[in-house]
Amino acid sequence: MLVFEKVDELQSYLQNCKQQLIGFVPTMGALHEGHLSLIQASKSKTDITVCSIFVNPIQFNKKEDLDNYPRNKETDLQLLKNSHCDVVFIPSVEEMYPTQHFKEYDFGKIGEVMEGEHRPGHFNGVGNVIERFFEIIQPDFAFFGEKDFQQLAIVKELARQLKSKTQIIGCPIYREKNGLAMSSRNERLSIEERLNAKIIYDSLLNIKHEFKSYSVEEVKNHFKITVNQQHPFIVEYIEIADGNTLQSINNWNESDYCVAFTAVNVGNVRLIDNMTIFN
Ligand code: AMP
Repeated sequence: MLVFEKVDELQSYLQNCKQQLIGFVPTMGALHEGHLSLIQASKSKTDITVCSIFVNPIQFNKKEDLDNYPRNKETDLQLLKNSHCDVVFIPSVEEMYPTQHFKEYDFGKIGEVMEGEHRPGHFNGVGNVIERFFEIIQPDFAFFGEKDFQQLAIVKELARQLKSKTQIIGCPIYREKNGLAMSSRNERLSIEERLNAKIIYDSLLNIKHEFKSYSVEEVKNHFKITVNQQHPFIVEYIEIADGNTLQSINNWNESDYCVAFTAVNVGNVRLIDNMTIFN
């Protein structure tokens, strides 16, 4: 496994791989099996898998969240090596953003709701980092988790706007045994909170199983009440939206592809999850 920190060194290596399909997996490190499932997806579709580890400061709207973001470089490299990842790119902030000049994107309505509304500037930061990575690596395929469903939609829109050659591939959510969606942020939960966080998955599953008997408003209220009862969990939002437009629906018949999206704060750890209700 090759590890690069410098853009020009990575690029000279990739220059010699022109005949091969390049797969790219961007991460912010603190890797878990969810990330490794993206590496596997890339390995099964491409010849060379490049994984980046970069905690992108401009996608954090709260300094505290950036400062507390887990960083486990040595363990990450070992996990990637065990997964037979070919190339790891670990740039510094200066290497990624030498000019500190950032673009402003308009992703339309998909960028205005949920994470776009609750984390101002977040998707603009995601847009800048992904455009920069695509410019450096020029991958044939890039792999993103459906865990960050809205981010995946934003990246598809970005690739469309850039007329990028990179095909964006969505990969299923990888969950812990109790149903909690794997996340680097789970490391910051206490053992008890991590166990109790199954309430988020259970309550999403409950919507999926029970939606026919209740209104959209009722299932959202029920979700909020149930999750909020689990101290110190506080629901930031629960939305029922169309999986293509990401716009909220008020009645089940307004969409034929319906997804529930939530963000829940457990103390100062913010978790997101989603589940397709029907398609
Ligand atoms: P992150 O390091 O959190 O920025 O995530 C890097 C990539 O891994 C993103 O495309 C995420 O959607 C994806 N990812 C994170 N957690 C999971 C998970 N539990 N299952 C599948 N993909 C995931």
